[in-house]
Amino acid sequence: MRKKSIVGVCILTVLAPVAALTAAAAFLYAVQGTSSQASVVTVVPDTTSSLPSNVSENTNTIAIPMDSGAFSITSWQLVLVNAETKLPDSFQPQITEAFDKEMDERIVEPYTQMYTQALEDGISLWISSAYRSPEKQQELFEREVQQNLLSGLSEIEAQQKAEGAVQRPYYSEHNTGLAIDFNGVTDDFKNDDAYQWLLDHAQEYGFVLRYPEEKEDITGIMYEPWHFRYVGVENAIRMNELGLCLEEYVNYLQLHPQQESEE
Ligand SMILES: [Zn+2]
Repeated sequence: MRKKSIVGVCILTVLAPVAALTAAAAFLYAVQGTSSQASVVTVVPDTTSSLPSNVSENTNTIAIPMDSGAFSITSWQLVLVNAETKLPDSFQPQITEAFDKEMDERIVEPYTQMYTQALEDGISLWISSAYRSPEKQQELFEREVQQNLLSGLSEIEAQQKAEGAVQRPYYSEHNTGLAIDFNGVTDDFKNDDAYQWLLDHAQEYGFVLRYPEEKEDITGIMYEPWHFRYVGVENAIRMNELGLCLEEYVNYLQLHPQQESEE
């Protein structure tokens, strides 16, 4: 079921179907196909603000304020982006340069602390990819389409195949500036000391493994040992304690609003 992954640009491979459509973004989803088949997912912007039935009415505005509490699902830290959830218009990445890459300026300090502690522990972390602009994302997508066309596929086939390998602009977590790909983006990273160190310590700095192996059906992305995401320290620790990926955690907070921090 795995499709190809191109080393170096953190190609996101979409597994089908994506099981957990969280309600963090107000979109309508039309999913075709059965649970045992690859699904074609059509995303239609929701102009009526209707929400999935499991979301109470008083949460019908999903905004991402920049200064909200850590546990709030409306916090910038928990912005959810995946193959079916577009980067919300209300989320404006605050991009700056650090470590010769671009990332959201709000994660520079926690990343620096993590990097420094890792180094003290004899672990070398380096960033292969962090923020990607929607324009860059479009470029990657178009490059993928071109490669598919060259291999003899029709225009439609080339587009469809590309969608399985590269996210479209605004559908990649790298468009948030909160995601970091480490140390060369290779599957071998899972055997690296740096990976084990991150599993043990990343949460202390607010980062989580975004696409765990056992959550492929929920994230819609194949296991990516190199891809970590900033969610804030409190959220990272709770996600790991609860064993939830971001899709599940956002859903959990929606279903258990009393669990949200009052801060
Ligand atoms: Zn990545």
